[in-house]
Amino acid sequence: MIAIAGGGPNGLMLACELALAGERPVVLERLTERSQEPKANGMVGQVVRLLHQRGLLRRLGGGDVPFRAPGFFFGMLPLDLSGLEDNPLTILPVPQRRLEQVLEERALELGVEIRRGHEVAGLTQHDRGVDVEVTGPQGKYALNAEFLVGADGGRSTVRKLAGIDFPGVSTEKGVNRAAHVTLPGLVDGQLEVPGFGRIPPGVHTRTEHGVFLHIELEPGKPLVVTIEWDAVDDGPMTLDDLRQSVRRVLGADVPIGPPAGDGPHLLRRLSGGNSRIAEKYRSGRVFLIGDAAHVHSANGGPGLNLGLQEAANLGWKLAAHRQGWAPEDLLDTYETERRPAAERVVMHTQAQSALAGPGPEVTALREFFAELMTKVDVAGHIALTMAGSDIRYRTGTDHPLAGRFLPDIGEIGGLRDARPVLLDFARNTALKDIADGWRDRVDVVELAWDERLADVVLVRPDGYVAWAGDGVLSGLREELAAWFGRPRTLTAVS
Ligand SMILES: Cc1cc2nc3c(=O)[nH]c(=O)nc-3n(C[C@H](O)[C@H](O)[C@H](O)COP(=O)(O)OP(=O)(O)OC[C@H]3O[C@@H](n4cnc5c(N)ncnc54)[C@H](O)[C@@H]3O)c2cc1C
Repeated sequence: MIAIAGGGPNGLMLACELALAGERPVVLERLTERSQEPKANGMVGQVVRLLHQRGLLRRLGGGDVPFRAPGFFFGMLPLDLSGLEDNPLTILPVPQRRLEQVLEERALELGVEIRRGHEVAGLTQHDRGVDVEVTGPQGKYALNAEFLVGADGGRSTVRKLAGIDFPGVSTEKGVNRAAHVTLPGLVDGQLEVPGFGRIPPGVHTRTEHGVFLHIELEPGKPLVVTIEWDAVDDGPMTLDDLRQSVRRVLGADVPIGPPAGDGPHLLRRLSGGNSRIAEKYRSGRVFLIGDAAHVHSANGGPGLNLGLQEAANLGWKLAAHRQGWAPEDLLDTYETERRPAAERVVMHTQAQSALAGPGPEVTALREFFAELMTKVDVAGHIALTMAGSDIRYRTGTDHPLAGRFLPDIGEIGGLRDARPVLLDFARNTALKDIADGWRDRVDVVELAWDERLADVVLVRPDGYVAWAGDGVLSGLREELAAWFGRPRTLTAVS
């Protein structure tokens, strides 16, 4: 059995992935009820395509195809993506609590056991597994798992118990306030601020004292955000605290009223920030995913893009290992593939923080950066980075698709169930013979020639292309074996 510490989005996603791969994981979650704390407002990047592959896009209110953002922002500067031929920046605006609800429902449908009110308090590793010490509603008990995955957030107990260091930087600088409010000064979405002027929605207004933003991410729930470089963080966060912060940033008063309609309503103040990546993602039979493995600023919303893809990367590999068909080094590829993605996120979120900072030099840098961002190829590069599509996994072929996330060609049977698939666009006669050896593990899906990406494409359960080729299928057998183990041996019939 595989135990997962933490039933946040990443722990729940991993549970779904393992269940799809035939496992019955147990999720240990210390909260007795799902958290209503407002966190992510949505997902950005490749993760949206992954959720589409799993058939979850519609359930999350994302429609039938991933939405490509015509514009976004980088370092609080507007990023125009309308000129890109193949815009990679898919987005799905959905509150994190809704995502967690959908993932929990899906996990339960798939037979996952979720133990709420159960906190991981200790662990001991041995040859055959991990003895997990759990504090539950009836007291302490031990759970014997073959593997334990820490999906227990930035302050991860599992990471600490496994003795995994968390190097990086923390800063005390900057106070961020955010609240759902009513804004009497809104006229057709624009905010009229007497003594300052009109402020359009979704545009970061940077002054020498900080940043102001108003935006309506959920219909009927205007959100006001301020960031101050030198502000003091004390006393309880109140609407009045926000009003004073707005006055300091804009040098003008903005009428702000309490939020209307149904909650939960956001009223939050955060100070400083952390950029850290776990020294390793694995210690023996213990793995880390999500915020337990890395933390960074929320610039551009990259957290769930990282974490949910880690769940998809680790899920099928752990299941393959437990079921005995994993190639020897398969589990090690979890870290070699996913760590570079986290490093890129830490790099670009820190770069964005620097671009949004105070001072006349930064103002000049922003002006110059804004010029660069009008270039289509620069916008494309930033979009690829924000989408998490700037990394390429190592495979045995140099076909342009190999090592990349599968281009969006709609929901595909097989991938919906997190199974590896061979996409056959060309009805290649040799393919059936080759695929036969892996028929128990790999599905063959025939697709129309006019949707052709290559003659044959081998896609891993996490949506990444392991092999693609045209004409001869040389190398396919080796790549199947490299990811999905030895072909089954056919029993001789005498
Ligand atoms: C203000 C804010 C805005 C954000 N905006 C975005 C955004 O727009 N887009 C985006 O992609 N990301 C965003 N993020 C980041 C995103 O919220 C996180 O990346 C995400 O919550 C990480 O999920 P997780 O499952 O790894 O950890 P968590 O969500 O922290 O879940 C961990 C779970 O583990 C449980 N737990 C902890 N310790 C134990 C234990 N010992 N035993 C059992 N259970 C335990 C906790 O109760 C919790 O339920 C934002 C974050 C914040 C704070």
